[in-house]
Amino acid sequence: MACVTKKLLGYGEWAMTSMIERHAAAAKYLPSAKLIIGGRDITTTSAGDVPHLNPATGKEQGRVALGGREEVDAAVRAAREASPAWRALTPSRRRDLIQLLADSVLADGEALSMIAALEIGATRHAVLHSQIPVAHEWMRYYAGWADKLDGRYSSGADGGPFDVVLPEPHGVVAVILPWNGPLNSLAMKAAPALAAGNTLIIKPPESAPYLAIRFGELAREVGFPDGVVNVVIGGPAAGDALVRHPGVDKISFTGSPMTGRQIAAAASETLTPMVFELGGKSANIVFPDFDLERAAEQAATFPFVNAGQICISPSRLLVHAAAYDEVLERVGALARGHRVGDPLDETTFMGPMFSRAARDRVIDHVERAAERPGVSVSAGGHKGEAELDGGWFVHPTIVADPDPGSDLSQTELFGPVVAVHRFEDEEDAIRIANGTEYGLAAYINTQDIDRALRMARRVRAGAVYINGSFPTANPNLPFGGVGASGYGREGGAHGVEEFVRPKSISISVREA
Ligand code: NAD
Repeated sequence: MACVTKKLLGYGEWAMTSMIERHAAAAKYLPSAKLIIGGRDITTTSAGDVPHLNPATGKEQGRVALGGREEVDAAVRAAREASPAWRALTPSRRRDLIQLLADSVLADGEALSMIAALEIGATRHAVLHSQIPVAHEWMRYYAGWADKLDGRYSSGADGGPFDVVLPEPHGVVAVILPWNGPLNSLAMKAAPALAAGNTLIIKPPESAPYLAIRFGELAREVGFPDGVVNVVIGGPAAGDALVRHPGVDKISFTGSPMTGRQIAAAASETLTPMVFELGGKSANIVFPDFDLERAAEQAATFPFVNAGQICISPSRLLVHAAAYDEVLERVGALARGHRVGDPLDETTFMGPMFSRAARDRVIDHVERAAERPGVSVSAGGHKGEAELDGGWFVHPTIVADPDPGSDLSQTELFGPVVAVHRFEDEEDAIRIANGTEYGLAAYINTQDIDRALRMARRVRAGAVYINGSFPTANPNLPFGGVGASGYGREGGAHGVEEFVRPKSISISVREA
């Protein structure tokens, strides 16, 4: 069944019996861990290096060089030096380069999906067939914007001056990535920022450096000028140095609200503008008039993709009282059927969680919730099979009837856990759905179009998905949150406008 993986790895290696051996053999796909600054590979850095652990096996699979203040300075210098030529390049040439980069991401898909499985435990076939085509589409979309950012002519007041608005790039953009979806975040941030004429410093965390390094290598291979795409691996210290750097003109950050708050405070010194894509605790609302089999299938699938480590994961399931018992039973049965295991194996539905700490935190939350009266935990929980013992696996977990105000239902667990709540009517559903600090996505399932649209207006969320439509697949739609889910938008015209600042030029016309 694992045919592409077998081909990539070699049939002999795949035949090895243990996951540890298979992953050790697959590690040849990891690019060498380095920083890319001004087109050069930097392998020895001021902040030393750290081990990288494979989430499925818990074993070290390489050492990662960490950028410090020195490397951040060098990267900002390189990006600033490259900026004038990059913004002066014809838009059509910028378009062509981004298009080439998009195509090379697609062409490199098999290796990139291998890297994602080893780096973050994502299931390789899902990355290959879903994340990479989506990243490709977003990059192609934004390549197309490079030669369409026209600015505008303003008719002026009372036939007065002749006014035009020029869209100017900010200059140097710091792209700070989360660990959980580096490729998609890059497509959503780097492509529009480059299209608008900015140069970049990409900062992935040290826990997920490899996809970003490969992205930097591909940019160099397709002909991006040195210094336009720089990659500095690093943790909070490198991120902080970048955010405070006076040579950075814009920050595009995806990560947790906690880090967002720290970045906002640090960037207040330089008043650097920001776009923030933060966490979520999205509600998936099911009314009894909807096809309950379909509702259960969706509710038992999407929250467990990438082991629930997706910002828009519908991690709270809200079911009308009339359908509650049936949906809960179906979701539990489906969740129990998911195959949890080796992310390289194409028959695996769900791989491990990303880190030991993340796994322990999720288990702790579930155990504490289970102690509350009236709360029941079904499907997964913490269950170890021999092969999975070394890695950080948590089986799909359903927690029924926690208090909507409880920790479990308020905190973004970022793991394969769904909290299920019962509601009585629309008002009740809105109260529960809007009852967290987050506002990223909301999912509404009903056959009643009036109800769907009423609910869509009232939910506090940056995006609403009705009757099973799928998030972020359409690059033409703005994507982002409200409240603790962030501000600013990726996607569509909004997504590229984040990376330009309009300059007004007013010309007075002397009468003849
Ligand atoms: P995180 O906030 O821990 O880290 C994100 C990035 O910020 C990393 O590169 C990290 O090194 C860096 N960082 C940490 N401290 C910093 C500081 N003080 N200054 C500057 N940079 C700093 O988040 P994570 O655990 O990597 O990612 C998971 C979070 O990201 C979840 O909350 C998830 O919902 C969110 N996320 C949101 C979206 C979205 O589009 N809204 C997409 C993916 C992930």
